[in-house]
Amino acid sequence: MSHFNQITKITKRLFTTTRFVASSLPEQFQQYVVPTYGRYTLELSHGKGNKIYDTSGKCYLDFGGGIAVNSLGHAHPALLKALETQASQLMHCSNLYLTTSQATLAHRLADLFEPSGTNDGHNDGTTGKVFFCNSGAEANEGLFKLAKRYGSTNNGQHEIITTINSFHGRTLAGIAATGQDKIKAGFGPSVPGFTHVPFNNVQAAADAVTDQTAAILIEGIQGEGGVTPATAEYLLGLRQMCNDKKILLMMDSVQCGHFRSGEFQSYQQILGKNTSFRPDAVSMAKSIGGGFPMGAFWVDPRYSDLLSAGSHGTTYGGNPLGCAIALAVLDVVAQEKLDENVRSGAGLRLKQGLERLKSQYSDHIADVRGLGFMVGIVLNEKYVAGDLVQLLHQHGMLTVPAGERVVRLLPALNTTNSDVDECLGILETCIELLGVGGGTA
Ligand SMILES: *Cc1c(COP(=O)(O)O)cnc(C)c1O
Repeated sequence: MSHFNQITKITKRLFTTTRFVASSLPEQFQQYVVPTYGRYTLELSHGKGNKIYDTSGKCYLDFGGGIAVNSLGHAHPALLKALETQASQLMHCSNLYLTTSQATLAHRLADLFEPSGTNDGHNDGTTGKVFFCNSGAEANEGLFKLAKRYGSTNNGQHEIITTINSFHGRTLAGIAATGQDKIKAGFGPSVPGFTHVPFNNVQAAADAVTDQTAAILIEGIQGEGGVTPATAEYLLGLRQMCNDKKILLMMDSVQCGHFRSGEFQSYQQILGKNTSFRPDAVSMAKSIGGGFPMGAFWVDPRYSDLLSAGSHGTTYGGNPLGCAIALAVLDVVAQEKLDENVRSGAGLRLKQGLERLKSQYSDHIADVRGLGFMVGIVLNEKYVAGDLVQLLHQHGMLTVPAGERVVRLLPALNTTNSDVDECLGILETCIELLGVGGGTA
């Protein structure tokens, strides 16, 4: 054996040995998982209700909710039951066939979009239709295709206006739609046809409309962009403008939807439940499946047959298992009046508590924004959201940063008053520590 071969062999063996030496979880992630996330070193093992535990047994109050996903907390009995029952009957069968759970869920969701207010001539009283998929990004892809189909049946217009600081997912069209440069960096050339305008500014949107514009897409509450709700004037102004210019008004409700604001849709919270306002299409995901990966989009009756047979599809979307779980989420929300809990119960208590902290710690907290259980604590210039999030981890609570300055609270819809009080207590402790540089460790 040549000298070279021998060395290669030894090196190979060394390499193999190091590879298989039992390593820590962070090391395994480093070695085997594509590093798209700057992960915290928390090693989570299980959860129950609003509590989640790490592998050392430490308990955390979960106010991040898996980024607005765990709408009923962890291990909710109704979800476990739906999972078990449906899995033992039929998990998956393809969209080539009919299943009860998909039809029932589509009906329930479509009904929730029916405006209870007076008919303003825009809504014809019918409920529209739903398409099911697996994620928020995929739901938005469906909206983009809907907009292009709509354009192709008119004058061939294909452009979509979105807003600065928006977030619409990580697919190629999703990042093109997202109004944040850092999301697009290094993935050019961008999918063409997207322009970004300032949020909460009707005039800017109207000025951006050209004869190529097919639709405008906005979030009801910007999430990743820092928890900024749309104003009532903005929603109503856009509706009017879109009617006038004959373009679609589409809403990305992936984070702010599904009762997170205290109503099914954030626009119903912003404009009042009896509003006759209705967008033309809405994307959904996150809270809809309570932890099961699911997405969907709803389309107004006037446009709900544009995506005709063969024009769009998905293998897993709307599978019986996901639909059964989403139905269980809707059942629990209705039975336990969780919309009310978010609107006027624990959600209101959280908002009031945060306002109190804001006035007490005005040196630290610049603003408290959001609706219901989608709230952002905006820190003053000299503080970093990530530092507060780390401190909160140390003191037993999970939250999610949004950008440099905002800490998001996205707890389960069944969060109780006592959970809220515990959250406010931990927050107060950590905000005080933030003042003495405790977060920079
Ligand atoms: C999370 C999110 C998405 C993307 O959803 P995925 O399920 O991660 O693809 C899209 N839009 C908004 C507003 C979101 O918050």
